Amino acid sequence: MTEIKQILFDEETIAAKVEDLAKRISADYAGKDLVLICILKAAVMFTTDLMRSITVPAVVEFIQAASYGKSTTSSRNVVIVQDLKEDIANRHILLLDTIIDTGETLHTLLKLLSERKPASLDVAVLLDKKCRRIVEVPVAYKGFDIPDDFVVGYGMDCGEQFRNLPYIAALETR
Ligand code: 5GP
Ligand code: MG
Repeated sequence: MTEIKQILFDEETIAAKVEDLAKRISADYAGKDLVLICILKAAVMFTTDLMRSITVPAVVEFIQAASYGKSTTSSRNVVIVQDLKEDIANRHILLLDTIIDTGETLHTLLKLLSERKPASLDVAVLLDKKCRRIVEVPVAYKGFDIPDDFVVGYGMDCGEQFRNLPYIAALETR
Protein backbone atom coordinates (compact mmCIF):
# COMPACT_ATOMS: atom_id res chain seq x y z
CA MET A 1 0.00 0.00 0.00
CA THR A 2 1.20 3.49 -0.81
CA GLU A 3 0.64 6.34 1.61
CA ILE A 4 1.65 9.94 2.10
CA LYS A 5 4.57 10.11 4.52
CA GLN A 6 5.10 13.83 4.92
CA ILE A 7 3.94 17.06 3.31
CA LEU A 8 7.05 18.82 1.99
CA PHE A 9 5.47 21.94 0.46
CA ASP A 10 1.98 23.15 1.28
CA GLU A 11 -0.26 25.19 -1.04
CA GLU A 12 0.83 28.57 0.30
CA THR A 13 4.54 27.74 0.03
CA ILE A 14 4.11 26.52 -3.55
CA ALA A 15 2.02 29.56 -4.52
CA ALA A 16 4.60 32.01 -3.14
CA LYS A 17 7.44 30.31 -5.02
CA VAL A 18 5.47 30.11 -8.29
CA GLU A 19 4.62 33.80 -7.95
CA ASP A 20 8.30 34.58 -7.45
CA LEU A 21 9.29 32.56 -10.55
CA ALA A 22 6.54 34.27 -12.59
CA LYS A 23 7.86 37.70 -11.60
CA ARG A 24 11.38 36.83 -12.72
CA ILE A 25 10.11 35.31 -15.98
CA SER A 26 7.85 38.31 -16.69
CA ALA A 27 10.79 40.68 -16.23
CA ASP A 28 13.14 38.60 -18.38
CA TYR A 29 10.69 38.09 -21.27
CA ALA A 30 9.33 41.63 -21.50
CA GLY A 31 8.83 42.51 -25.17
CA LYS A 32 9.44 38.94 -26.34
CA ASP A 33 7.17 36.36 -27.95
CA LEU A 34 7.03 33.85 -25.05
CA VAL A 35 5.95 30.26 -25.63
CA LEU A 36 5.48 28.15 -22.50
CA ILE A 37 5.82 24.44 -23.17
CA CYS A 38 4.14 22.24 -20.59
CA ILE A 39 5.65 18.76 -20.34
CA LEU A 40 2.70 16.42 -19.80
CA LYS A 41 1.44 15.26 -17.46
CA ALA A 42 3.41 16.28 -14.36
CA ALA A 43 3.77 19.97 -15.30
CA VAL A 44 0.05 20.67 -15.70
CA MET A 45 -0.55 22.37 -12.32
CA PHE A 46 2.79 24.18 -12.36
CA THR A 47 2.03 25.49 -15.86
CA THR A 48 -1.49 26.72 -15.11
CA ASP A 49 -0.42 28.43 -11.87
CA LEU A 50 2.67 29.97 -13.43
CA MET A 51 0.90 31.29 -16.55
CA ARG A 52 -1.79 32.90 -14.37
CA SER A 53 0.92 34.99 -12.71
CA ILE A 54 2.99 35.81 -15.79
CA THR A 55 2.26 39.39 -16.80
CA VAL A 56 3.74 39.43 -20.32
CA PRO A 57 1.88 37.97 -23.33
CA ALA A 58 2.47 34.22 -23.37
CA VAL A 59 1.03 31.25 -25.23
CA VAL A 60 1.03 27.66 -24.01
CA GLU A 61 1.81 24.46 -25.90
CA PHE A 62 2.03 20.84 -24.76
CA ILE A 63 4.48 18.02 -25.29
CA GLN A 64 4.55 14.55 -23.75
CA ALA A 65 7.60 12.36 -23.27
CA ALA A 66 7.98 8.83 -21.97
CA SER A 67 11.12 7.11 -20.80
CA TYR A 68 12.14 3.49 -20.76
CA GLY A 69 14.87 1.72 -18.84
CA LYS A 70 16.28 2.05 -15.33
CA SER A 71 17.26 5.60 -14.49
CA THR A 72 19.62 4.67 -11.66
CA THR A 73 21.89 2.30 -13.56
CA SER A 74 22.04 3.33 -17.18
CA SER A 75 20.80 5.98 -19.52
CA ARG A 76 17.11 5.77 -20.29
CA ASN A 77 15.54 6.07 -23.68
CA VAL A 78 13.34 9.17 -23.74
CA VAL A 79 10.82 9.37 -26.58
CA ILE A 80 8.20 11.94 -27.57
CA VAL A 81 4.73 10.43 -27.35
CA GLN A 82 2.89 13.67 -28.17
CA ASP A 83 4.70 16.37 -30.09
CA LEU A 84 4.02 20.11 -30.27
CA LYS A 85 1.35 21.21 -32.73
CA GLU A 86 3.08 24.51 -33.54
CA ASP A 87 6.32 25.61 -35.16
CA ILE A 88 8.74 27.11 -32.62
CA ALA A 89 11.29 28.61 -35.03
CA ASN A 90 12.37 32.13 -34.01
CA ARG A 91 10.24 32.05 -30.87
CA HIS A 92 11.31 32.30 -27.21
CA ILE A 93 10.70 28.92 -25.61
CA LEU A 94 10.42 28.18 -21.91
CA LEU A 95 10.16 24.46 -21.15
CA LEU A 96 8.24 23.73 -17.95
CA ASP A 97 8.49 20.68 -15.73
CA THR A 98 7.53 20.25 -12.10
CA ILE A 99 10.62 18.23 -11.26
CA ILE A 100 14.06 17.51 -12.67
CA ASP A 101 15.60 14.24 -11.49
CA THR A 102 18.22 12.48 -13.66
CA GLY A 103 17.84 15.27 -16.22
CA GLU A 104 17.35 12.85 -19.09
CA THR A 105 13.85 14.02 -20.03
CA LEU A 106 14.81 17.69 -20.23
CA HIS A 107 18.15 16.91 -21.86
CA THR A 108 16.42 14.97 -24.65
CA LEU A 109 13.70 17.59 -25.14
CA LEU A 110 16.24 20.44 -25.23
CA LYS A 111 18.24 18.63 -27.88
CA LEU A 112 15.19 17.91 -30.00
CA LEU A 113 13.66 21.39 -29.70
CA SER A 114 16.94 23.20 -30.34
CA GLU A 115 17.04 21.57 -33.79
CA ARG A 116 13.87 23.52 -34.61
CA LYS A 117 15.78 26.80 -34.30
CA PRO A 118 13.92 28.70 -31.57
CA ALA A 119 15.09 32.27 -30.80
CA SER A 120 15.87 31.07 -27.26
CA LEU A 121 15.30 27.89 -25.28
CA ASP A 122 15.29 27.75 -21.47
CA VAL A 123 14.00 25.59 -18.63
CA ALA A 124 11.89 26.32 -15.55
CA VAL A 125 11.29 23.69 -12.88
CA LEU A 126 9.65 23.88 -9.49
CA LEU A 127 11.72 21.11 -7.89
CA ASP A 128 15.30 19.99 -8.41
CA LYS A 129 16.53 16.61 -7.15
CA LYS A 130 20.13 17.51 -7.92
CA CYS A 131 21.73 14.50 -6.21
CA ARG A 132 20.16 12.23 -8.85
CA ARG A 133 21.46 14.07 -11.92
CA ILE A 134 22.99 11.91 -14.66
CA VAL A 135 23.13 14.49 -17.45
CA GLU A 136 23.82 18.21 -17.04
CA VAL A 137 20.86 20.43 -17.87
CA PRO A 138 20.95 24.24 -17.78
CA VAL A 139 18.03 25.27 -15.53
CA ALA A 140 17.29 29.00 -15.82
CA TYR A 141 14.46 29.12 -13.25
CA LYS A 142 14.23 26.84 -10.24
CA GLY A 143 11.91 26.78 -7.24
CA PHE A 144 13.26 24.41 -4.59
CA ASP A 145 16.10 21.92 -4.20
CA ILE A 146 14.90 18.65 -2.67
CA PRO A 147 16.66 15.52 -1.37
CA ASP A 148 16.28 12.10 -2.98
CA ASP A 149 12.69 11.42 -1.93
CA PHE A 150 9.97 10.22 -4.27
CA VAL A 151 7.39 12.99 -4.25
CA VAL A 152 3.79 13.19 -5.40
CA GLY A 153 1.06 15.80 -5.75
CA TYR A 154 0.88 19.13 -7.58
CA GLY A 155 0.71 17.19 -10.86
CA MET A 156 3.16 14.44 -9.93
CA ASP A 157 2.00 10.83 -9.71
CA CYS A 158 2.67 7.37 -8.46
CA GLY A 159 0.91 4.97 -10.83
CA GLU A 160 -1.23 7.92 -12.04
CA GLN A 161 -2.54 8.54 -8.51
CA PHE A 162 -1.98 11.67 -6.37
CA ARG A 163 -1.63 14.17 -9.25
CA ASN A 164 -4.63 16.12 -7.94
CA LEU A 165 -3.20 16.82 -4.47
CA PRO A 166 -2.72 20.60 -4.09
CA TYR A 167 0.44 20.06 -2.01
CA ILE A 168 3.71 18.16 -2.57
CA ALA A 169 4.36 15.15 -0.36
CA ALA A 170 6.89 12.37 0.10
CA LEU A 171 5.58 8.84 -0.31
CA GLU A 172 5.93 5.83 1.86
CA THR A 173 5.50 2.42 0.27
CA ARG A 174 4.80 -0.61 2.41
P1 5GP B 1 14.25 12.89 -15.25
O1 5GP B 1 14.16 12.60 -16.72
O2 5GP B 1 14.86 14.22 -14.93
O3 5GP B 1 14.87 11.76 -14.49
O4 5GP B 1 12.78 12.89 -14.68
C1 5GP B 1 11.82 13.76 -15.08
C2 5GP B 1 10.44 13.16 -14.91
O5 5GP B 1 10.43 12.02 -14.03
C3 5GP B 1 9.52 14.17 -14.31
O6 5GP B 1 8.88 14.89 -15.32
C4 5GP B 1 8.56 13.31 -13.52
O7 5GP B 1 7.50 12.92 -14.35
C5 5GP B 1 9.36 12.09 -13.14
N1 5GP B 1 9.88 12.18 -11.77
C6 5GP B 1 11.13 12.38 -11.36
N2 5GP B 1 11.24 12.39 -10.02
C7 5GP B 1 9.97 12.18 -9.57
C8 5GP B 1 9.41 12.10 -8.25
O8 5GP B 1 10.05 12.22 -7.19
N3 5GP B 1 8.07 11.88 -8.20
C9 5GP B 1 7.28 11.77 -9.30
N4 5GP B 1 5.98 11.57 -9.13
N5 5GP B 1 7.79 11.84 -10.55
C10 5GP B 1 9.12 12.05 -10.68
MG1 MG C 1 5.25 9.33 -13.53
